[in-house]
Parts: sequence; structure tokens; C-alpha cells
Amino acid sequence: MSYAPRTFGGFEVTPLRDAVGPMGPSIRRPLPELFTGASPDDWAGTPAEWVLHFRCYLLRDAFGRVVLVDVGIGGTDSPASSWAPVPGGLVGELAAVGVAPGDVGTVVLTHLHSDHASGAVTDGVPTFPNARHVIQRAEVDWIEGAGPNPILERVLRPLTGLVDAVDGAAEIVPGVRVAHTPGHTPGHQVVEVGSLTLTGDVVLHPVQLANPAVRYAYDEDAERAATTREALLREVRARHGLLGTGHFPEPFTDPGI
Ligand SMILES: [Zn+2]
Repeated sequence: MSYAPRTFGGFEVTPLRDAVGPMGPSIRRPLPELFTGASPDDWAGTPAEWVLHFRCYLLRDAFGRVVLVDVGIGGTDSPASSWAPVPGGLVGELAAVGVAPGDVGTVVLTHLHSDHASGAVTDGVPTFPNARHVIQRAEVDWIEGAGPNPILERVLRPLTGLVDAVDGAAEIVPGVRVAHTPGHTPGHQVVEVGSLTLTGDVVLHPVQLANPAVRYAYDEDAERAATTREALLREVRARHGLLGTGHFPEPFTDPGI
């Protein structure tokens, strides 16, 4: 089920629900172990169990440009299948709003963790064959340098020829920009369109809005992630922008002041 679209910077932005559920038992831990450094006040009003939403965002403009930000969990054989709650439903979500995989001209991967990138490949071939796939160079280098791993072999390799590796900030289509936001992964990036910032995993849980210094156990570099999160939230709050998150219960979040 998709959510109601909203318009930012000339793009209709439609959040798409790839999946919903708790982390699988292989990596599930109590919330205070996953998110460290939070006070009882920081946790106030949040549920005791973390039920993740796995969300992608579709951006469409009046000129027919179709941009997809993150591609979710993928199918039953995806690298995410060892821990994700269910297979991803992205392609069906796209169909429900009138978009076929071949219509997508640009895919942006905020990072190459399995729940954000695996849907780029289906049965060994690119799911979105006409799309260039925008990834930070630092992210590609990290995965390629990590030795044999499922993301390299089952996502990046099949995308050969479709990857557009960018270095730092870039305007990827007119009105849509990416910015390098390292920490969760070395080449993590966010996407900015109008007043909306699609955060990927710079923030994972609302406790990190209450206290941006809260660390996440599965950050590659939690110190750097915290510095990045603090800077991004300060900047978005200063201009009264909105966040579009990957895992919060609701797609659009006002980070407050
Ligand atoms: Zn994630």
C-alpha cells in the first residue's frame, strides 16, 4: 500500500511500502542495545518493539522524469532474506501507482545495505533495466574492497554498466540532488528535492530525532554517523525542511526545531 503523495520542488513524491515487520531473529536485539546513549526522556512515546517500515520513494515530475530512491529488500533469494521480515513488494507498489520497472530512468541507492539495494536485481538481472543507478563512489569502493560478499556478487555485479558512481554532492536530474553523508556506511548519501530530504539511514528510529547523538549498533562508523546526523538535522531544522525516512512508521516527518 502506498501513501498519499506530496509535492516538493516540482516533483510528486510518493512513498512506497516495500515491507513492514520486525528484524529477523538473526540480528534482532533489544532497542536499548541497538540504540545506545538514549535517556528515558529520549525514548518517551516510542513503542517497546521496533517494527520497521521498509520504504522507497518515487519521484515524478511534469516532464516525465521518474526517479526511484532505494529499492528495498528484494525477492525471496535476496541478500536481505536472512534477516528481513518478508520479501519486498516494491514492484507491485510501483504497479499500483502506474509505474512499470522500465519506466524508471534513475535509481538512487542511499547505500548498499541489503534492505535498501537488493531490489535492484531480480533473478540475477537488473529490475530497472533502463535506469542509471546513482551510488556514491565511496560506497562502491567499500563494497568492492570488502572481499567476496553477497551485495557485490548479487547486486553490484549484475548492475555492471548501469552504475553511475558520483563523488560527493551532485545534481542527478534537474531539481534532485544527492549529498554524501558518511557514517552509517562510508558512501551513504541523502537525496534532496525541494524542502524534502530523503534520509536513508542517517536516522533510523525517532529516538535519534529526540537525541541525534544516539548511536546505532549497525552503523559502520557510529561516531561519524552521529556527527553526520547532527549536522544534517541542524541544517534541515534551520530551513524548516521535512524528512522522508526509510524506517519510521510514517513517511514524512517534521524534525521540529
Ligand atoms: Zn536501512
